[in-house]
Amino acid sequence: MPLGARINAHIDSALVAERDTQRPRDYLGASRIGEPCARRLVYEFTKIPVDPGKEFAGQTLRIFEAGHVFEDLAIRWLRAAGFDLRTEKRGGGQFGFETAGGRIRGHVDGVIVGGPNVEISWPALWEHKALKASSWNDTAKKGVRVSKPVYFAQMQIYMAYMGLDVALFTALNKDTCELYHEYVPLDAAEAQALSDKAVDVLRAADAGELLSRIAAHADFYLCRFCPFSARCWSEERP
Ligand code: SF4
Repeated sequence: MPLGARINAHIDSALVAERDTQRPRDYLGASRIGEPCARRLVYEFTKIPVDPGKEFAGQTLRIFEAGHVFEDLAIRWLRAAGFDLRTEKRGGGQFGFETAGGRIRGHVDGVIVGGPNVEISWPALWEHKALKASSWNDTAKKGVRVSKPVYFAQMQIYMAYMGLDVALFTALNKDTCELYHEYVPLDAAEAQALSDKAVDVLRAADAGELLSRIAAHADFYLCRFCPFSARCWSEERP
């Protein structure tokens, strides 16, 4: 095995071991509610193991962690520009909310409470994503609602539960450090539909049931990338 592969194997197994010590979520994360397949959300919420070989590999864990570092940079740059971006409550800890007896929870990247006049009314939810170049280009071209519906849904749910009317979405291009910013207003009907979907997931989980598949065939593009695909298409539960 080449030197690089041997070193990376050590790094990745350390990261996987670290991940395995973390307590799994015992709630439905609001960042996941926009996932298009509600059946997948039932699997996730009920902690059904993913198909063999579909666990997050070390490289994916590195990508997640790098995302936090990029987020810290974006926070620094916005603050340097005069945006009053709050990322922690006065006593410490992330801003967030919980509902349904704590079974649905969200943690927000931040809230901007003031700043230069950029024709946005404050306070605004702030949501950040670090994207690879192709993904960033698609988002900058089509907008977050079309290009990244899961992130759009995440912001709608957060705004609804945090009592905010607007959000500022910031996407950082990991290759070039270009920044894309988009104003996203609250869409109350969309937020309600997402909230109803989350309640459906909890109800199905409590009843030991599954929700409908998103597609009629396993070769649907979302199913091909789903870590529960083998289980899902062999499952006979209602
Ligand atoms: S395989 Fe397809 S239908 Fe089944 S849970 Fe995954 S995305 Fe949903």
